[in-house]
Amino acid sequence: MYLKSLEIQGFKSFANKIDFKFHNGITGIVGPNGSGKSNVGDAVRWVLGEQSARQLRGSNMQDVIFSGTENRKPLGFASVSITLDNADHKLPVDYEEVTVSRRVYRSGESEYRLNGTSCRLKDIQEIFYDTGIGKEGYSIIGQGQIEKILSGRPEDRRELFDEAAGIVKFKRRKAAAVKKLEDERANLVRVNDILSELQ
Ligand code: ATP
Repeated sequence: MYLKSLEIQGFKSFANKIDFKFHNGITGIVGPNGSGKSNVGDAVRWVLGEQSARQLRGSNMQDVIFSGTENRKPLGFASVSITLDNADHKLPVDYEEVTVSRRVYRSGESEYRLNGTSCRLKDIQEIFYDTGIGKEGYSIIGQGQIEKILSGRPEDRRELFDEAAGIVKFKRRKAAAVKKLEDERANLVRVNDILSELQ
């Protein structure tokens, strides 16, 4: 699996549609200060489901939409698509190529797509569990992140090891099953209460 392309439109400093093609090996993005290099990394985080505006260096989610310049009016939406080669089926879907897209409008309305089909954020998160690529993965190392990991709480560091060991999806499924059991237990208590009222 590898990153094939990234298409950005209306996201942060990228008003026009821009299509980055990546090839095997190392790709460097160079440019003067403030030219938008870090915005490319932010676009990758965002399309993979980042929900925290702070992680994207903004104060709210609408901050990712191109806010205009002296010569250009603000845009009404931001859109990012990322395409990964999945010939080795590391991502648990049948497709040989996986494109994840996210779009947000100034009204706050937003949508995710998986290979062109509308889907939930949860669907996107699930295909990236244990691949190191998801929002909590380690494939994007931001400025200052190494220091944060080294000086962070052991519980937080453990999450990285869990992801690398491939057990995150099982932990998430266990948590969902435990929650369902608790809900069912609460339902049973209610049913018993009603039964004893009727007797
Ligand atoms: P440095 O080398 O200093 O780290 P950089 O090349 O990584 O800089 P970025 O931080 O990616 O630059 O981009 C910052 C630029 O993005 C600023 O000029 C900022 O005005 C612009 N920018 C951020 N959000 C928006 C937005 N919503 N609309 C328009 N421009 C934006």
